[in-house]
Amino acid sequence: MKIGVLGAGQLGRMMAISGYPLNHQFGFSGNSSDEPSALLGHMFALEDNADNIKYLVDFADVITYESENTNVEVVREISKNVPVYPGEKSLFTTQHRGREKALFNQLNIPCAPYQMVSSEQDLIDAVNTIGLPAILKTATEGYDGKGQFLMRNISEITEAWKSMNGVESILEGFVNFKRELSVIAVRGIDNNHKYYPLVENTHHDGILRFTIAPAQNIDPTVQKTAEHYMQTLLDEMDHIGVLTIELFETENGLVANEMAPRVHNSGHWSIDGANTSQFENHVRAITGMPLGDTTPTHSYCAMINIISKIGPTNTVLNMPNAHLHLYDKEERANRKLGHINITANSQAELDESIKKLKDFLP
Ligand code: AMP
Repeated sequence: MKIGVLGAGQLGRMMAISGYPLNHQFGFSGNSSDEPSALLGHMFALEDNADNIKYLVDFADVITYESENTNVEVVREISKNVPVYPGEKSLFTTQHRGREKALFNQLNIPCAPYQMVSSEQDLIDAVNTIGLPAILKTATEGYDGKGQFLMRNISEITEAWKSMNGVESILEGFVNFKRELSVIAVRGIDNNHKYYPLVENTHHDGILRFTIAPAQNIDPTVQKTAEHYMQTLLDEMDHIGVLTIELFETENGLVANEMAPRVHNSGHWSIDGANTSQFENHVRAITGMPLGDTTPTHSYCAMINIISKIGPTNTVLNMPNAHLHLYDKEERANRKLGHINITANSQAELDESIKKLKDFLP
């Protein structure tokens, strides 16, 4: 099939790399023709022609997207001619933190208490209801910790509201978590579901730096709970493709943070560490192919993001159990340029490998 991707970053690039062996073709609509996906398919760059989304739609049998910030109206228009997966409901829900949390509550998925905020007075009211500490976040378009203000004291109300630049926001109660986890699931057109194991994520300056897969010391009932949450979300949104949910592990169990209707950075380990990667499973799902097995190939995997600078990549290339993935991007502060996957058969082997790659960690 011909798969059209709205966006042309590293996620589209890795979808294409996984999709060619299945005999699919790819087209991308990015801003410019030097984006990471550009050489992996037909590139419909918007800088060349503002109508290029139309040409992408003409090219494609099915459309998918790389970002939850994709315009819902554009997707609705496209869907009149070509199927778009995941569909409008998944996109509409996941691009707004308030709608996301309302759905968590509707489906009895625990999440932080929250209140929507559109003025300084709203923020005062929300702080009175939720208490402090709390986190003020923009309702839409926040990523990598951008557009967030951690409030510890009532005296910070004016400063916190100012930092939102007047946009609709959400005040969330602070969750006292032990670890940050995420789970990735995929649902096919035939309503089949598959789940990857919970993974543990470490952020630095708001950016994911490091994932351990599977997360260690997870009780099987916790994995089952995560899968149950996922199943209810996939079914409720009639979601086709990969869905990711970021979770906090707390003393009282899992608490949902946010969702992404797409392949996710915390699933990049699966390229080298699972029988079928998240990218291949997304491609399989949206093209109506049977889903692939999600079982990890090793008991211990890790993913290290390469951020800002490429670093000493020969160290990676000289290790038998490390795999380098670069995205063809120029070095720039805080930019995701690639990642390294590590596979190991013991905790000791994993620790030893990570130590060799310490130059890539903050
Ligand atoms: P987010 O953009 O929602 O993923 O938030 C970025 C990071 O801020 C998360 O990975 C957490 O480390 C932290 N964070 C977000 N929301 C909360 C919360 N309600 N309580 C505690 N920490 C949070």
